[in-house]
Amino acid sequence: TDLAKLVASHVVDVPDFPKPGILFKDLTPLFADGMAFREMVDGIVDHYGREGFDAVAGIEARGFLLAAGIAYAAGVGAVPVRKAGKLPRETYTASYELEYGEAALEIHRDAFRPGQRVLVVDDVLATGGTAATSLDLVERAGGVVTGFTVVLELSFLPGRERLAPRDVHALLTV
Ligand code: IMP
Repeated sequence: TDLAKLVASHVVDVPDFPKPGILFKDLTPLFADGMAFREMVDGIVDHYGREGFDAVAGIEARGFLLAAGIAYAAGVGAVPVRKAGKLPRETYTASYELEYGEAALEIHRDAFRPGQRVLVVDDVLATGGTAATSLDLVERAGGVVTGFTVVLELSFLPGRERLAPRDVHALLTV
């Protein structure tokens, strides 16, 4: 699609970041291009429909940028899923395995009204650990996950399988 081409033309491959042997996909040039950012946000909103969700949750940190744009475009609120220790009030916390060690994400306990339909967004889907943990947190906070969208899906990693049977919407899969 046009959107996939737009994403592909703005992704910059960065070898050996953050560690030797890892090819990091840098999407900051996509966010920095005003027309591309608008098309990306509109494309995501159109995929679910303007009435298709009641809130959008963004995963720290690049998911925040996307969530803010989507929230504004759809006229809904934006909720942050944050790294542990950043949210000031009562949270739900979930830990997950990284390649080396562990990480934890948090969401405010009162982030949603019960049954609110939530679209969850992030920039990149890799192993799926971040996404699976975030979707659990949204549900613990009373949200109903209506969709999970990423700009870029890395299909050589098992992210999509890990999230099954949930639906994953990716603007570009490589
Ligand atoms: P996962 O938990 O392995 O799926 O990793 C996904 C998380 O790490 C997302 O929050 C991404 O922002 C980040 N991430 C992993 N790989 C990349 C990459 O190549 N480019 C940008 N972000 C990445």
